[in-house]
Amino acid sequence: KIKSENTPEITPNDMSEMFAKPLGNLFIVAAPSGAGKSTLIKEILSKSTDEQRMQLSVSHTTRAPRKGEHNGVEYHFVDHAEFKSMIGQDAFYEYAEVFGNYYGTSKAAISDKLQQGIDVFLDIDWQGARQVKVQNPSVISIFIVPPSVEALQARLSGRGQDSEEIIAKRMAEAKSEISHYNEFDYVIVNDQLETAHKEFEAIVMTQRLNLSKQKVRHKALFAELLATK
Ligand code: 5GP
Repeated sequence: KIKSENTPEITPNDMSEMFAKPLGNLFIVAAPSGAGKSTLIKEILSKSTDEQRMQLSVSHTTRAPRKGEHNGVEYHFVDHAEFKSMIGQDAFYEYAEVFGNYYGTSKAAISDKLQQGIDVFLDIDWQGARQVKVQNPSVISIFIVPPSVEALQARLSGRGQDSEEIIAKRMAEAKSEISHYNEFDYVIVNDQLETAHKEFEAIVMTQRLNLSKQKVRHKALFAELLATK
């Protein structure tokens, strides 16, 4: 306990509450492939500051790394046995099979960060989004869609290097993800990147201004404002 002559007793508990940061916000960002999700996430993360840090949770997956991907950066790449063993250890916050591969968010990837006041983004599919919502009803889920079928087709066909069969498969997978749009809190139609980015930022900002966060962040201000005669 800390005690000085003129101030009331302050217990360590009060101290930690006085200096506690508001908990970070948890966001789910889902989209069909071809909606521009990765670009939007990358842009928002580049706005992370010391005052308000933002991080993307790095998932575990059994899929093979693509060219240019590195273990621990885009994903933690693991084999089936390791993934199963993590399921057995209850290490996942959520996990799902997505188009033939397993993907999961480890508990370790998020809880400490939220405690530190960091806003955490989960780039997961609709199945994972459902599981996270059950465990954390205050999660904010955002769904990103392309502006038209033509735009989606153009984005999925790549540089014309893939066969029609592969493109058709990607379109079917995209449609399957889009069929769950109704389960999300916010929707961004990604036509102009700049507009979509502003909309994304607005959603993030709105959550930070919520009373539950602001009262922790500005505890001293409220105390002072209310103490004045
Ligand atoms: P990709 O293999 O293209 O990186 O990702 C395929 C899909 O898996 C995307 O829709 C992505 O959002 C989803 N995904 C990535 N990580 C996770 C995860 O940890 N959990 C779940 N449920 N889905 C994930």
